[in-house]
Amino acid sequence: MGSIEASVGTPIGATSAPDGVDRNYQSAGETKSGSATAKGNAVSASVKTTENDAPKRRRTSMLPLEVGTRVMCRWRDGKFHPVKVIERRKIHSVGSNDYEYYVHYTEFNRRLDEWVKLVQLDLDSVETVVDEKVEDKVTSLKMTRHQKRKIDEIHAEGHKELDAASLREHEEFTKVKNIATIELGRYEIETWYFSPFPPEYNDCLKLYFCEFCLNFMKRKEQLQRHMRKCDLKHPPGDEIYRSGTLSMFEVDGKKNKVYGQNLCYLAKLFLDHKTLYYDVDLFLFYVLCECDDRGCHMVGYFSKEKHSEESYNLACILILPPYQRKGYGKFLIAFSYELSKKEGKVGTPERPLSDLGLLSYRGYWTRVLLDILKKHKGNISIKELSDMTAIKAEDILATLQNLDLIQYRKGQHVICADPKVLDRHLKAAGRGGLEVDVSKLIWTPYKEQG
Ligand SMILES: [Zn+2]
Repeated sequence: MGSIEASVGTPIGATSAPDGVDRNYQSAGETKSGSATAKGNAVSASVKTTENDAPKRRRTSMLPLEVGTRVMCRWRDGKFHPVKVIERRKIHSVGSNDYEYYVHYTEFNRRLDEWVKLVQLDLDSVETVVDEKVEDKVTSLKMTRHQKRKIDEIHAEGHKELDAASLREHEEFTKVKNIATIELGRYEIETWYFSPFPPEYNDCLKLYFCEFCLNFMKRKEQLQRHMRKCDLKHPPGDEIYRSGTLSMFEVDGKKNKVYGQNLCYLAKLFLDHKTLYYDVDLFLFYVLCECDDRGCHMVGYFSKEKHSEESYNLACILILPPYQRKGYGKFLIAFSYELSKKEGKVGTPERPLSDLGLLSYRGYWTRVLLDILKKHKGNISIKELSDMTAIKAEDILATLQNLDLIQYRKGQHVICADPKVLDRHLKAAGRGGLEVDVSKLIWTPYKEQG
């Protein structure tokens, strides 16, 4: 394994994924597209041109483009969109002096950042003014060995040590996506974010994963050879839940260290800002699978600290892109609380939560709490609600306050549960997705395991 052992921390990107909210587009945006001929000229500027020489010279002299340059770029929809050049690299081919560019589409989510060829860029649209903020970033992007070492040290120490400046450096270091696609089982999946794979994988655009042990390889033939030898047909560890074709496996990061690390490398490809942990030993991974006669195929997972002082019952959650928008994220959130109930403890997701993560959780909390309030006769306290649901009292209070269901009367907080208001909130919270059938959960909490 490589030098960096990453595991997945905050449920930031993660909790947004389960709901399957499409984050591709920040805004549909008006697309400015130049004429086709202008593009053609820009592209073949060095080959042939029917134009006069001045614009040609201007265009050639700006090459290679500086990091920070803003320019229009032809996207996969065939239209031109504004981008910012984040990084550039020489194309390694004989006789070529060309660069390719890593660009961020300013209208789109960062996960659509990608490497593009010069032909996709409309050089006529280059904005010559590079704003200062970008230039600042450029300097830090070209990292010195000292900076690199500093980041490695930070990695080794854990993210607690990150001060604002180092965090910025860290972000610069991780923002260029390395692996563009992965093959996993029967899916080829486009990745969203950088993941700190060992350095020997730095030159890979595509990785091939064994869908069962999650070992990854550079070449398809290696994977095929591996699949003939690999005897796993499901995640290592105990199957703790089976209902229909759905199974949950509990994987102990200490007993299955390599699997835990592989899972983290894989997950980071789809999670943006997340904490890097170094010790998968400290975590349990709950891996959700769809099972058929070929084996149990991973759909997603959440991780959980074996011992949490802050009563976290979920560290990180991810549903793989091909399985999103099917209610699996809600299933995993509900499952994490069912485990807490069995432990006789209250739980809460690790902070910080992203906006969308908070939305997923608010939805779950609202559905669970208001269902109880609707059926309940007489008074009920936050403590009682917490005991019944394993939801932390603070989260209950925040949820009910957010719905304006808490009033202050005669010196104390009272839950006001007008049935009509409850129904309205329940409707707004949406459906709960796949139900966890508690009778199918056969599990001993970690502490009690031998
Ligand atoms: Zn394998």
